Amino acid sequence: MVEQVFDVAIVGGGPSGTTCAALLAKKGHSVLLIEKEKFPRYHIGESTVPGILPVLEELGIVEEMAQHAFVIKRGITLVWGKDRKPWDVNFADAGPLTGPYDHAFQVVRSEFDSILLTNARRSGVAVLEETSVVDFLFEQGRCCGLKYVQGQNGMQSTVRARFIVDASGQNTLLARKYDLLEWDEGLKNVAIWAYYQGGKALDGYAAGNILVENMQDGWLWLIPLHDGTQSIGLVMPAGHTGGRQALEQKFQDMIASSVETRRLLASAQRASNYRTARDWSYKSKTFYGSGFLLTGDAAGFVDPLFSTGVFLALRGGSLASATIDRLFKEPEKEAELLARYEKSYRDFFDVVISFVHFFYDASKTKESYWEKAQELIDPIQQMTIRQDFIRLISGQAGIVDVMKLDWSEEVQV
Ligand SMILES: Cc1cc2nc3c(=O)[nH]c(=O)nc-3n(C[C@H](O)[C@H](O)[C@H](O)COP(=O)(O)OP(=O)(O)OC[C@H]3O[C@@H](n4cnc5c(N)ncnc54)[C@H](O)[C@@H]3O)c2cc1C
Repeated sequence: MVEQVFDVAIVGGGPSGTTCAALLAKKGHSVLLIEKEKFPRYHIGESTVPGILPVLEELGIVEEMAQHAFVIKRGITLVWGKDRKPWDVNFADAGPLTGPYDHAFQVVRSEFDSILLTNARRSGVAVLEETSVVDFLFEQGRCCGLKYVQGQNGMQSTVRARFIVDASGQNTLLARKYDLLEWDEGLKNVAIWAYYQGGKALDGYAAGNILVENMQDGWLWLIPLHDGTQSIGLVMPAGHTGGRQALEQKFQDMIASSVETRRLLASAQRASNYRTARDWSYKSKTFYGSGFLLTGDAAGFVDPLFSTGVFLALRGGSLASATIDRLFKEPEKEAELLARYEKSYRDFFDVVISFVHFFYDASKTKESYWEKAQELIDPIQQMTIRQDFIRLISGQAGIVDVMKLDWSEEVQV
C-alpha cells in the first residue's frame, strides 16, 4: 500500500488543533487532523475571554458564532479579596484598545468544538475521527509522521508529513513520551463540577458573566449556558479532598456556605452527574523539536481561574499555523522560527501563571490585584491599573504585544 504524505499532520481536534489545521489549509497546505473521539464530544472549559475574537475572525466563523446564540459574556463577577462584596469586571472598560473586543461567549464545548471541527473540514482539512495516534515516526532525529489506529480494534497505519503538530490536549503525547512535563508545585488542584437547572442569573448587564467566588478552602465557578443550564464547579487544593464521596460532599458544603453562588442556586436542581478532573498546572520544557511543535494544553495548562485555556489554545493554534506556513517558505530558518513561536507563546503563558499565583492569595484588596497586572503587562504605566487588569484577564494584552510575531527582529537560538 502506498503511504500517504501530507504537508502537516495534527494530533487532536480540540480548539488548538482545529484552529491550526483550518488556517494552514486556508493557506493552501494539505493537512490531516486525527481525533480519537467522535464529535460532538463532551469537554470542560466553557467560559471564554475576548482574546478569542480575533482568532474567530481569522477563522471566518464570527457570524456562525453569533447565530449559534451562545450566552454573551460581558465580564466577570468576583467575590474575591479582602472585601467580600461582589465586584464586576466589564471587558468594555479595558481602555482605548478594546475596540470590538468587548465580550466573549459562554460555550457548550461539544457545540463550540464541533463548529471548529466542521470549519476545519470546510477549509479543506482531511479529518479522521475515532482514530487514535499511538506513536510518532522519527527519521534521523526528525519527526516525519504518525502511527495511528482507527476504531476499537483497527489495524495500525502510518502517515508521513513534512511537519507534525501535537494538539492532543492534556494527553500531552509528545511531552509525556520525552518526559518533558514540568508541574507547577503551587498549583496542584482538583476540580469537581455538575450542571444545574432552574437557577437565577446575575443582574442586568452582568447576566452573562461568569461568577467566581472565593472561600477558605477553594473557589466556585458559576457559568450560565445557552441550553438553560448553569455549570457549577469547585476548585480546591488536591490532597485534602478524601475520596470521591467526600469531594461531592465538599462541593455541596461549599455551595451551602457561599453567598452569591448559593443565592443564585436557591431554587435550582442538579441536572447531571458530578464530573471531576485533576487540575494541575504544567508546561512542557520545550514547545518544539525537529519537525514538530506543541500547542494548546499539549504545550501547557494554566489553572482555570481566569478562563484562559481556550484562548491559549486558539492563539497557540493560530501562531503555530503562521510559524509552519513561514518555515515551509524558508526551511533554512526552521530553528529560528520555532524558537520565536515558543518565546511568543511561553511569555504570555508565564505572565498568566504568575498572575494566577498572585491572585490565589485572596487576602488582598482588589486594587493590589490591579497593580500586579500593571507590573506584569504595562510597567511603563500607559493605562490605568484597572484597565491593565481587565486587559490581562481578557487576553487583550496578549493580542497587541506579547504574542505578536515581529519577523523583523532576530531571535537568538
Ligand atoms: C476543571 C477545568 C475547568 C476549565 N475551565 C475552563 C474555562 O472555563 N475556560 C477555558 O478557556 N478553559 C478552561 N479549561 C481549560 C480548557 O479545557 C483547555 O485549556 C482547552 O480545552 C484546551 O484546548 P486544546 O485544543 O489544547 O485541547 P483539548 O480541547 O483537550 O483537545 C484535545 C483533543 O485531542 C484529542 N486527543 C487526545 N489524545 C489523542 C490521540 N492519542 N489521538 C487522537 N486524538 C487525541 C482529544 O480527544 C481532544 O479532542 C478548564 C480545564 C479544567 C481541567
